[in-house]
Order: sequence, then C-alpha cells, then structure tokens
Amino acid sequence: MTSEDIHRNLDRVLPGVQKPGRYIGGELNQVVKDWEKIAVKVALIFPDIYDLGMSNLGLAILYDLINQRPDALAERAYSPWPDMETAMRQADIPLYSLETRHPLAQFDILGFSLPYEAQYTNVLNALDLAGIPLFASERTENYPIVIAGGHATYNPEPMHAFIDAFVIGEGEEVIQEIIDLYLSWKSRGGDRGELLRSLARIWGVYVPSLYKDHYEADGTFAYIERLDDSAPLPVFKRIVAKLPPPTTNFIVPYVDTVHNRIPVEIMRGCTRGCRFCQAGMITRPVRERPVEEIVAALEEALAKTGFEEIGLLSLSSSDYTHILELAQAVSARFTGRHLAVSLPSLRIESFSVDLMDALKDTRRSGFTLAPEAATERMREIINKPVSTRQLLETACAIFSRGWSTIKLYFMIGHPSETLDDVQAIADLCRAVLAEGRKLIGGRAQVTAGVSTFVPKPHTPFQWVPCDTVETIHSKQELLKKSLRGKGLKLNWNNPAETMLETWLSRGDRRMAEVIYRAWRSGARFDSWSEHFRYDLWLDAFARVGLEPTFYTHRERPIDETFPWEHISTSVHKKFLTEDYLWSLQGKTRVDCRERCFACGILPTFADLRRNNPGDVWQCPEVKSKRLRIRDLAPAGEIIQV
Ligand code: SF4
Repeated sequence: MTSEDIHRNLDRVLPGVQKPGRYIGGELNQVVKDWEKIAVKVALIFPDIYDLGMSNLGLAILYDLINQRPDALAERAYSPWPDMETAMRQADIPLYSLETRHPLAQFDILGFSLPYEAQYTNVLNALDLAGIPLFASERTENYPIVIAGGHATYNPEPMHAFIDAFVIGEGEEVIQEIIDLYLSWKSRGGDRGELLRSLARIWGVYVPSLYKDHYEADGTFAYIERLDDSAPLPVFKRIVAKLPPPTTNFIVPYVDTVHNRIPVEIMRGCTRGCRFCQAGMITRPVRERPVEEIVAALEEALAKTGFEEIGLLSLSSSDYTHILELAQAVSARFTGRHLAVSLPSLRIESFSVDLMDALKDTRRSGFTLAPEAATERMREIINKPVSTRQLLETACAIFSRGWSTIKLYFMIGHPSETLDDVQAIADLCRAVLAEGRKLIGGRAQVTAGVSTFVPKPHTPFQWVPCDTVETIHSKQELLKKSLRGKGLKLNWNNPAETMLETWLSRGDRRMAEVIYRAWRSGARFDSWSEHFRYDLWLDAFARVGLEPTFYTHRERPIDETFPWEHISTSVHKKFLTEDYLWSLQGKTRVDCRERCFACGILPTFADLRRNNPGDVWQCPEVKSKRLRIRDLAPAGEIIQV
C-alpha cells in the first residue's frame, strides 16, 4: 500500500474513531522531508497511544537529532487505540508514519522506545499491523532493521526474539553511529547478517541473535554464549560524556496529551542510592546542565511552541547543584508570562518548599513527596533515610505556605516489610493530615499513592522475591480500612499488574514465547487496567510450560547468575551485593557525592571522566591513568572482556 492509498483510506475511517487527531500528524514543528531524496529513513515508534508518546522526551530528542542530518529523516508512529486498530485492519491500512503516511515496512530502521515493560505486546502488535514478521529470525533484507532502546531494555532478554538490536543506555551519540553504519552498509549492498554483526561492534548495541542462552538443570539461568566474534561480552551501556544542549523543537499536538509542556532535563543520573530504584542505578553518573543553557533552551522552546508549562526534569531535582539559582533565574526571566513550572522529585525538606516558592508556583493545588516507606526502619532498609519528624515539619511548611493537598507516594512489598510497616503508612498519612488541619482546617487533604515493589534488575534488591498477589491484597485491604475519612484519599494498583511487571522485567529468553502467546490470544495495552487481561498471561505461561512464580516469588541465592548480567550498567555486581547485604543489616549509604563508594562507574568510564574534568560530572575526577581497569572501545570497535 502506498502513502496515497493510506491517505485515501484514512479519510474513510477517521470520522468513526475516538480522537482522530491522534492519527493525522501535521502538527506545529513536525518535520517533513522529501521522501525520495533522503538516504536513511527512520520511524520512531512509541508502542502506546499518541497521548502518552508525545510526552516522551527521549523520542523528541532522537527525532530532532535525526532530522538535523541532511541524509536522514525521522517520522513518528504510535499504537492505535483498539477502535482505530479494528478500523485499520478492516480497511487494510498498515501502521504508518504520521508525517508522510508511509507504511512502516518502507522505512530502513524502526526504533521502538521501551521505557516500561507493559508495552511489550504493543510492540508485537505494531509489527503485525505494519506487516513485518514478528520474529527477527524471519526478517529478510527487504524488511527494516528493528531496534529498541529505553530503560526496560536493560534486561532485553524477554524481547530478544522480536528485536534485531537493542541500544543499551543513552541514545544521542549511538543513533548517529547506527545511521552512519547503515549508510555505508547500504552503499556496499551487504546482507542483513553483516549489518547485524557490524551493529554489534558499536559500543552500547546488543544484537541478541549473536548469543545463546543456557540453563541449569533446576531451570535457573546458567550463562550466555557468544556465537560470533563480533559479539562483545558483556555489552556495556552507552553514555554521553557531557549532556548536549537541550532539544527545543517540540511538536505541539492538536489533542490533549499527558503533559502539554516543555520538558528540559536539568540533570541525568542520581547519587542517592535508593535500593529499589532501577533508574537511579542505571543512569549513573550524574551529569548536570549549566543554568544558562537551561534558561536559554526554555526561552527558545517557548518561542517555538507557545506552551504554557515547563517541566524541569531529573530523578531528584533538589540534588541539582544550582537548583535555587535555576529556580530564581526561571522565575526572573519568565515573570509575568503566567507559566506553570513543574519541578518533580523534590526531597523531603523545607528547602523544597522554598524552591517552589522561588518558582512562584501559583497553582498551590498539590505538593508531592515520596517517602516510599512509613517507618524509619523501612526507610533505612531501602536507603531513603529521612526522619518522620522531618517529614512532618516539611508537611507543616507546605500547608502553611498555601498548598492544601499533599500527595504522598509509598511502596508496599519492600524486603522484610510487616503489616505494622503497612499500618504505619495509614498512621503517617493521618499525622500529616492532622498537621494540615491545625494550619488550614478542613481544607487540608492527603492523598496516598501506594504502588507495589518490583525487584528490578541491576538494583541492590534484584535478589529479593516479590510479594504474592494474596499478600499484596491483604496489605491493600488493611490500607483501605485504615485510610478512610474526610481529607484522605488512597490510590493503589492492581496486584496482577505487579506480577506482569515482575515477569517481564526479570524474565529470561524463555519469556519471549509467553509474550508471543499472550499477544496471540489478545493481550494489548497491558498497562491500561481496562485492557489488561491477567488470565491471558496465566494461560500463556501454562501453554509454554513455565511457572510464573519462578520469576516472582523465589528468593535468589546471592551467587545466582541473572539472565541480564551480560548487559553491564557498569555498576559492579559486587557493589550491588554489598549494598543488598547492608540493607539486611539496616545499614545506609550517604549520597555518593559526599563519598564515592566505587560503584564501578569510574573504572569503566575513566577516559570519559578524565576528558571531562570539573563539575560536568558529580563523580570524583580521574587524573591517574592507573585507575583505568579497561579501555572502552570507541564506536565501531569490539570490547572483549
Ligand atoms: S563512581 Fe562513586 S560518585 Fe560516581 S556514581 Fe559511583 S559511587 Fe557515585
């Protein structure tokens, strides 16, 4: 089907679907290039609906970077909502790009963004809708190369069968190298196998077909075998030494999206060391952007888009070294423009309230804090040590400065958690509400968002079992009974969704068959409660002959080999093991800006750090050549360990 056919057929189906604005493109700042004149065509795909995908900063960055090249183009595609999928299948419309409405099968490279695991069946569905074989092994030279990146791919194994190559880590530089490589491969007229082997030589690229998995007799993972000399072992994540200037060319959607704002990343990485937090472990080291660069980017992006909200993004905003200076600069520069400024992930301290004041946040509707656990014992186990007194003092500061609602985020299911620790969540929320009542009376409100802990790969808690569905239910019931009454609200998530997240994030290669069967029987949009079908997943496990609890409820011996260990975040397993054992003793670590714990980042990235001295990174400087354990191969060379 041609792009013209798709245009014609869409005209017929769009009037009959919800929010047709999701499917038409043509927004302000989209980039449309001459299809015939461009050598490398990349489709960037967010395997969920447009409303979510348009707020994905990673894809916006890649879209901008690729389209800056004269020899490449990037266009976008999203998962159609089920009503549109039905209409597309009935009208024989393949999944297409929004910019030029070319079928995805006509692109050279498909790049999937996978920030979370519950999108996996949508990847299969997108490939199927595009008419592209689902299994990488069945794709010939005529099909695009299918690449995936994003935080979920730090354990790529459950999706190994469907993806040709994974990008592990940060994409800004590696995408350029992939396009350069593709160009030279295309001009030489090589075969697909040659392209895959060359991709595997790029630092940060994992080509799963070049490896084979092996298991012990008891079903646990044994080791991964390299099948080709081009395949590095381990595959190190990719990072940029210095954050490049922020993207400012944001597309302005016609329909309401999750975040209608300009997102600017002020800092990448986190040094706090919360033991449940995968993002904090995999995004090390901390790199910051200068205040002037952030403010200039905001100015430019506002002029290009007309958005009325900006988001200053990072994993822990209060830890950005120049946060007060930034807040004051933003406030001074944009005063009178009635901009809403969001500064997520603030620490529990009154300084956070000062910061929001400095930003002149006029909405004062809700202030969010994430203690994650309600007792000091639990907060020490998870390495988020903050005293209850400090939390209550911060709550008082928030209520007295004009906010009426405090949102508190907790997790249940942390290691060694008892029902008393769960009850403490309700007690703490009531104590915060009581402080609010004293200060602002009946207007005070507390909303508790309670999610469930998932023992994520590459974290100090990767050895820990996940709570069973029954245990999660009983903890949630306790909270539902205790957190009732005026001024209190409780949000929780479905325990079955926690099981799915655990299976998919901790799975080995055998999970690919489960994903395939679940998709075949109708699993789609698994992160949407109205579409999630737990029964389909249990049935898929049974058909494949795998036991779901093997992945969720089994405590791992400390020396177990994990199926994701050949993917290296550069944070050593030795460090994670020690941190896990420390957690069992209730021992905490300070922020590693105060004291470096030699997690492994510096030996791996010694050259990058040495060449970028000063406060570009928040790790200690590297001067001596002796600190280097191994040389990192530049792009295009193989790392052999
Ligand atoms: S190398 Fe040291 S300072 Fe850098 S992230 Fe690791 S522990 Fe923190």
